[in-house]
Amino acid sequence: MPALQRSESFPCPDSSAIVAGHPMSIRCPEASLRKVKAVPIVCPACGYAETLAEPDESLDRALVDSTYIHTLRHELGLLERTEQFFARFPASKHRLKVSKTRRHRRELREIQDDPEFAAALRAQPDLYEFLTRSTFLLPARLPFVWECIQRLERDLDMSLVRCPRCTSGVLTIEDALLQRR
Ligand SMILES: [Zn+2]
Repeated sequence: MPALQRSESFPCPDSSAIVAGHPMSIRCPEASLRKVKAVPIVCPACGYAETLAEPDESLDRALVDSTYIHTLRHELGLLERTEQFFARFPASKHRLKVSKTRRHRRELREIQDDPEFAAALRAQPDLYEFLTRSTFLLPARLPFVWECIQRLERDLDMSLVRCPRCTSGVLTIEDALLQRR
């Protein structure tokens, strides 16, 4: 399989931008792709799956970008839910809210327990996991992820990665391959 190169306009995010334990940890997935002969791909919309045995540089590059878009869209959904959740508790100084929205370090000293916030968050297990397992500042991360998606979608040749079965979904590389080290 030929070496894949990420476009210059979208450098791999540095570690501070990576959400720990989240699918966004697929940093520089090309490095993994180069090591495998067959690339398992899947359509998240309909479940269509196949394995690409023939190297195709432009298709491989499009798949890397479509997979980034897919994982970034998942993260964007969680970030938007985070924003909506925090808005429900404007006065809360709960640790998870302060640590992800603070503008100054001194705000960390104002952290206070907030049982109502904590109970409401536990009612949304996936959001709870996202907030407890990741490190980010919401006011910076949300527009960054949104801009990444816009840029990647603008440059992606959709004709290369459109699902042949449902024709509305977009093919992506299977998570298991991307998270391999
Ligand atoms: Zn499909």
